[in-house]
Amino acid sequence: MKINNWLEKVKSAGLKVGILPENLLIKYKRDYSRQLKDAGSLLVFLQPYPELMPPIFGELGYKIKLSKYARGEDYHNILKKKIKTLANVFTTNSDTELLWIGVDSHDLPEKKLAYEAGLGEIGYNTLLINSEIGSYSYIGLMAINSKVKADKIKYENIIDCESCQLCQKHCPGNALYLIDRVPQLNKDNCISYLTQKKGILGSWQDKLIKNNFWGCDICQQVCPYNNTKSAKNIRNKAAKGWPGLKEIDPEKIINSFINKKNLYNEFAFSWRGNRILVRNLLINMSNMKYKQYYKNIQKLKVSNSPIIEHYLSIYNKT
Ligand code: SF4
Ligand code: SF4
Repeated sequence: MKINNWLEKVKSAGLKVGILPENLLIKYKRDYSRQLKDAGSLLVFLQPYPELMPPIFGELGYKIKLSKYARGEDYHNILKKKIKTLANVFTTNSDTELLWIGVDSHDLPEKKLAYEAGLGEIGYNTLLINSEIGSYSYIGLMAINSKVKADKIKYENIIDCESCQLCQKHCPGNALYLIDRVPQLNKDNCISYLTQKKGILGSWQDKLIKNNFWGCDICQQVCPYNNTKSAKNIRNKAAKGWPGLKEIDPEKIINSFINKKNLYNEFAFSWRGNRILVRNLLINMSNMKYKQYYKNIQKLKVSNSPIIEHYLSIYNKT
């Protein structure tokens, strides 16, 4: 299969692809031999987020927020499937073999690899920014046994953070800063990180979370590279045929936790389990003094979870 034809297929699948330079692949092969031992090439893919409407939170409407990346059906399976299809095209009637596909659940540094494969620069918001699609993208990896010429795939990625700094200015937790001009994130001050962290958080962290149920998009929303016409068009295109979540029902979350049932399994934000979703809901409701689900929330008294007990007691005092 000619590489140019294959690149057309990557484009039709709505992805961008980069290749890790050979000298770097040698280094990674040493550190990640389980995945890359026989790799001749490591290809890195970007899948732009689908631009989907935020879900409604029952009686609370749109007052509680769910991050953009979590609104669509779990990207892991969707991206893996696309990469597998592209690998099949590559490997049919050739000596090329697919060795490994990785989407998130592995220990290779995806963001660094995407940067090294020429797919973007690391912005002051510490995320990979591609000058055409911005920072709203998922990353996937594919290792094959043959060598693909990197010079066939080249992008211009000129990112100017120095004269912008909007993400740093707008971050509610002041979590973004530089050390020797290298962007840094203080995770303990980052809402996105905190909504995914387990356990009882500090009271100042509860307040910081405000009405964010899962994730926080502020440092991406303000980024000019996410607000170009081309970036928006690409995200709208990605949304076509991508199932999205229309409603998150707070009552269902509470009941599923009490009845030990899984919920929203097909969405990426369910990976921490119902306990953390209930905790986040209680944090949101306490912060915003919402009493809509008061009766239902009291059912949590039988939860036997110190985390839920802690947050229920805060909620009942507000
Ligand atoms: S996700 Fe939110 S809290 Fe975290 S760095 Fe970005 S703006 Fe700050
Ligand atoms: S908001 Fe501005 S400073 Fe922050 S990553 Fe985007 S371009 Fe860079």
